[in-house]
Parts: sequence; C-alpha cells; structure tokens
Amino acid sequence: MCGVFGIRAPGRDVARLAYFGLHALQHRGQESAGIAVSDGGRLTVLRDLGLVAQVFDERTLSGLQGELAIGHTRYSTTGANAWANAQPLLHHGPTRTVAVGHNGNLVNVEALQERAGSRLASTSDSEVIAALVANDERPLTEALARTMRLLQGAATVVGLAEGKLFAFRDRHGFRPLVLGTLDGDPVVASESCALDLVGARLEREVRPGELVIADDGGVTVTQAVPEAQRSALCIFEFFYLARPDTRLAGVEVHGARVRMGETLAAEAPVDADLVLPVPDSGTPAAIGFARATGIPFSEGLIKNRYVGRTFIQPEQGMREQGIRMKFNPLAEVAGKRLVVVDDSIIRGSTTRQIVGMLFDAGAAEVHLRVSAPPVVSPCFYGMDFASEDEMIAARTDVEGVRAEIGATSLAYLSLEGLQAATRRPESALCRACLTRDYPTAVPVNAAKDRFESAPA
Ligand code: SF4
Repeated sequence: MCGVFGIRAPGRDVARLAYFGLHALQHRGQESAGIAVSDGGRLTVLRDLGLVAQVFDERTLSGLQGELAIGHTRYSTTGANAWANAQPLLHHGPTRTVAVGHNGNLVNVEALQERAGSRLASTSDSEVIAALVANDERPLTEALARTMRLLQGAATVVGLAEGKLFAFRDRHGFRPLVLGTLDGDPVVASESCALDLVGARLEREVRPGELVIADDGGVTVTQAVPEAQRSALCIFEFFYLARPDTRLAGVEVHGARVRMGETLAAEAPVDADLVLPVPDSGTPAAIGFARATGIPFSEGLIKNRYVGRTFIQPEQGMREQGIRMKFNPLAEVAGKRLVVVDDSIIRGSTTRQIVGMLFDAGAAEVHLRVSAPPVVSPCFYGMDFASEDEMIAARTDVEGVRAEIGATSLAYLSLEGLQAATRRPESALCRACLTRDYPTAVPVNAAKDRFESAPA
C-alpha cells in the first residue's frame, strides 16, 4: 500500500504537479510522503513522516526545482514507520545516483541485499532496488532491465537517474501503474485518479514487465522482462484499496464495487429496513445492495474523515473510545433492521465494535454483508494485514465469525461473484489472501520488521 507518481515536463513546476498527484494517492499511504526532483544532473529529495499536506508547504515546494519529479506516499509493509524509510529513497552507487519510489513487497529481498553489495541506509526493501541500479556498470536501460529480472514479488517503481524518468511494473503486475500525458509530457501514477487531478490524459496501463523511460528523446516503452504466464493484479485493489474513481485494467472501480453489492444482494438477501455502508470503501457496494433490493440506502454511520493514521497518538482515555473517534451512528438506525455492508473483515475487532455501536444506538437487527470472500491468508505483495493467526476467518467458519462480531447474520460475497464484478479473468488476478494460491514462492519470514536489527 503505497502510491507512486512521476513526471517529466521541462518548463513546468514538476514538484507542484507531483504534490497534487500525491494528494490523489493519499489513500494508498498516510505514514510518509516525499518528492524527488532532478534538473537533469542534480537530484534533490524531500521526504518526511506525515500526510502530503503536512510534509510540504509553499516554501518547501518552491525549493524543489527541476524538470523531472517522482513522488511517493507510504504505508509501511517492510521496514518500520521511520524517517529513514520514507521515500523516495536515494542511493549513491559507483555508477550513478538513483532515486526510487516503490509500491509492493519483494519476496526475495534477502538474496537481493547480498547482490546489491552496498550498505543500505534504510530497512525497507525498496532501497535494494535503487542500489541494484546504482551499482550496475551497464547503461541505465540495461541496468534497469537486469534489476527487473532479479526482482521477485511486487514492484511498481518510479525513479530518477541520469536526468531520466523511469517507471516499471514487475512481471506479475501485482500493483497498478498507468501512463498518461500532460500536453505531451509523460506522467506515470499508481492510479488514473492522479492523472485526472493534474489534468493529464490516460494513455494506457503499463503492462506487467514493461519499462518506461522518458528523456530528451521522448518516451520509450519496452517489455524488459516477459510478462508472467499468469499475471496477478491484486484483487484487493478492486474491493478495497484503489480509489472508486480510478480505472483498473479499463474497469472503473466504483462500478465494480456497485456490482459486488448487487451480486451480494442476490447471493445473500435479507428482509431489512435500511442498507448502510461502513464508509468509505463499503459505500459503493452498499449502493449496489440497496439498488438490487429496493431497501432504502442510509448513510447510517458518519465517518470522521480527519482521524486517519497519524503519528499523533490520542491519550489513553480517548484511545479507549476506539471506534467512536472514527464513526458515529445516526439516530435513524434506532428500531431498524439494518443491512451493514463492509468491504472486508480482517481481525474482526473493528467490525465487532461497529456492530456493538449500532445495537447501542437502538438497531433492532444488524445483518452484516461483506463485499469480498473471507480473508484467510497473509499478503506478501504489499498489503499489511494481520498474520494468519490474527485473521478471524482463518480461525473459524462463517458462523464462528458471526458469533464473535455479534451480528444478527453474516454473509460474504462468493469468489465467483467478486471475480465477475471485476470483469477480469481469474488468470489476470492475484487472489491469494482469499484462496491461499500464491502466484510466486513466498518467504518464510515476511515480518515487516525483519531488517530492523540489520546494521544500517
Ligand atoms: S495476496 Fe491478496 S492483498 Fe496481496 S496481492 Fe494478492 S490479492 Fe492482493
């Protein structure tokens, strides 16, 4: 869960454009943000913990002058939430200096660290990518292609080196990346919504294994590594991670989520008075459920959008308020039979609190409908959810989950229903956390902090 952005636009304020692009990608990572710019020779990076608007202001943006820029919003999946791991990461090698922003998790990072052969300043897997490119004596394009061949796992990467902008996707294409143009200048971003925000036109998706290089000579796209036989765009992007106004593989995410809700209504109907979402990612599926059943849609739960993942810890008493800091029910839920639509249940603790809060507000029944199948297995490709023994659905069956969260009834969308809603074939998606069928070998130790004790 990270967002990446890149632009090459001589004569424009590229740092400011990257800043706007990162705003559109804020949902992909709220722990840190950063921008690197290049004026063709010198690379300058500014990165820090916090939201995009906390890290940058007018003064810092105006200090970032150049013709090319990359940006990153981070949600840590390897390496702690620490300043040293904020991106873009800069690596000075014997051949070149490289800045990278990376979305995804590598599954062979230990082997790559040895190969990178230089001391790393961060504890994330992303600097390994920068080091491999920076230390390679071959011309940049070849160094990038070789690095791409070495990477296993998820790597959607943007970077700057030798006055060029580069971007690529791993051979499976776990994480999205799109290529657009802004008055002819190339722009790359994790999601098409970032192109929309800066006024760029979507040209196409970067395909798995493709490498994009933009320099004085224009934009070159090459198939640097063969696409995996089975590509593996993360299905979680469709039901949870991506912004609803993003188009993934040509499919608008909002529409896909509405279809998930419609299918869920057909698969698990229930007599009720109101349909309400757990905002925000449950909202489109709740709209679909309400449309398909004719049960009125209600906002029901009001979300405080300003309580995010921040490094400002609430004092203990407030923390115990837990979920109330984030959601508050409307009075209209009292006495009603509710269908509550959420996109997923991982640990179950948040869901249990929401169900309890609705009963406390006077709900007569709380029927929980989930717009994805049970999440039963960890992700090794860039989603930081619990280990398997913390996952409620890995421990118990649907009735067991229902009992633990205290809902009147519980139903999940079928895998077939989810798949159909994405309009993508099974062979084009990763669904491993739902099926335990991983598209790559997976590491024995995938703990997020496994490099924290390594010497810096
Ligand atoms: S394991 Fe799940 S979250 Fe991870 S890439 Fe695959 S589908 Fe996405």
